[in-house]
Amino acid sequence: MLELKGHCENCRKKLNKDSSETYICSYECTFCAACAEEIFFKKCPNCSGDLQKRPARSISKEIDHVIKFRLETPRLLLNSFDQSTYDAIFSSFEAPEIRQIFGHLNDEEYELECSRYKGGFSTYNLTIQFFQLVSKENNVVLGWAGYHSWAQQHHRAELFYSLKKDEFKRKGYMSEALQAILEYGKNQMDLYRIEAFVAIDNIPSNRLMEKFGFQKETILKHRYQFGDEVDTDNFYSLLPNPKYQ
Ligand SMILES: [Zn+2]
Ligand SMILES: [Zn+2]
Repeated sequence: MLELKGHCENCRKKLNKDSSETYICSYECTFCAACAEEIFFKKCPNCSGDLQKRPARSISKEIDHVIKFRLETPRLLLNSFDQSTYDAIFSSFEAPEIRQIFGHLNDEEYELECSRYKGGFSTYNLTIQFFQLVSKENNVVLGWAGYHSWAQQHHRAELFYSLKKDEFKRKGYMSEALQAILEYGKNQMDLYRIEAFVAIDNIPSNRLMEKFGFQKETILKHRYQFGDEVDTDNFYSLLPNPKYQ
């Protein structure tokens, strides 16, 4: 694949991948239009080869390329993010594009994503399968849901879900997404046990668990700490494989 360098090698001007005003030689030496035309007269200063306009690459097409599959519900697209998706995004996109892909609302969200990625989602026996919830109507990233701590050899994973803004809540989006994501976990990931921790005072979230047939196994005290706040959680499980119920 053609490497799309992000800066002019002469004046360091930033060059966007979707810009058609960028010049390259056959070795991918890369220059802005001003340098290529007015300084180098369309001859590469490194290799003396022709400088020609680089074909623009649309960012949305490139995102489609790294997202290997998506699930679809009546109102949502559920973009698959696994470890390899994260690796591809963090190695081939720059900060503004990464922010656009994830739908980060501010610098803090972007920084958190970077530190989560650097900290590592996967170990030798655990990995992830996340889904990004995108509104079909306006392409806005509404939130995330999926599985972490996926122990493939034990057919077990932990479910998580969250919406990015209060205005996205109470519209049934998460219920719609979880329907598809739980089906996916059962049929494609071959999960026999899906676990979920839900704060006991989070009434909508506890209702969601009951709606999908999760069984409450126990209460866990002080499972999560948020600043001074300590969560007590209901510990739920769903056993989708009838053989092991
Ligand atoms: Zn330049
Ligand atoms: Zn060259």
